[in-house]
Amino acid sequence: AKEKGRNNYQFFTNAMNEEILTKSLLENDLRKALSNNELEVYYQPQLDVDTDKVIATEALLRWHHPEKGFVSPMEFIPIAEETGLIMPIGEWVLEEACKQTKKWRNQGHDLTVSVNLSNVQLMDNRIVEKIKDILLKIKLEPQYLTLEITESTAITSLKDTHCKLKQLQLFGVNIALDDFGTGYSSLSYLSSLPINIVKIDKSFINDITDKTKKEIVKSVSNIAHSIGLKVVAEGIEEEEQFTVIQSLGIEMIQGYYLSRPLPKEEMEKKFLNHLNK
Ligand code: C2E
Ligand code: CA
Ligand code: CA
Ligand code: CA
Repeated sequence: AKEKGRNNYQFFTNAMNEEILTKSLLENDLRKALSNNELEVYYQPQLDVDTDKVIATEALLRWHHPEKGFVSPMEFIPIAEETGLIMPIGEWVLEEACKQTKKWRNQGHDLTVSVNLSNVQLMDNRIVEKIKDILLKIKLEPQYLTLEITESTAITSLKDTHCKLKQLQLFGVNIALDDFGTGYSSLSYLSSLPINIVKIDKSFINDITDKTKKEIVKSVSNIAHSIGLKVVAEGIEEEEQFTVIQSLGIEMIQGYYLSRPLPKEEMEKKFLNHLNK
């Protein structure tokens, strides 16, 4: 039996490379993460450039793995998507974020919340009903929720996706196009999508002090504004970047310059105790 076990082990390591092995181990752990209370929603504040007030947060998922410690969403979200675990996890994030936002609003903070919606979640035929049900249950008015979708989501299975997003929009939810500029969609394409907000990806912000990059961001933001969309600049880390963004008339910023994503208690301590009320 011992011999057999070793052979199996050898087969295992030979047949699967380390990456796949790590992945399947993580997958197993991820199955238990929700019921073991290992998941937590962090909140990254978004600043209204004109008023200098925090008017929104983005909900970002954190996984505290019992042995590995913190595992990045960049690592586990793709696994959650491949295995379908993103369905219960995504629903949990949405519910958590809406509940917290309802609570903050009840305390007098005029905040909205953005939640990332995976294209796998959008493939669910009941997703629109599920989102509506959560909002109704929590009694959060739909206009205080923004769903962030990526360009690739917007492009895949176009008609079906558009139909669902349109239904959500009609219900009152805002739709934001995340990571804009990293995918394939052209500017003219923006007008055909059921979206309210464009989030300009941080790769454009990184060297925004470069004249060409600045011009690109300027055109994107002008076109977005001309078709009635709001613009958020993501990944603002430095004051110089903030100054350029401000000069371009972009209304909202998000990034380390303002704050990293924070646990709800810290969000309250740093941004909600005296501000905004
Ligand atoms: P994202 O939606 O583009 O979220 C923004 C990411 O940029 C976050 O990484 C945030 O911490 C990071 N970030 C914010 N400001 C700055 C900055 O100034 N500089 C730099 N270098 N980074 C900044 P995070 O939290 O690690 O999340 C990574 C990605 O994982 C997210 O990218 C999103 O695609 C995905 N994700 C996170 N939470 C969820 C979730 O609940 N559901 C789904 N479907 N995806 C999620
Ligand atoms: Ca996002
Ligand atoms: Ca983004
Ligand atoms: Ca991203």
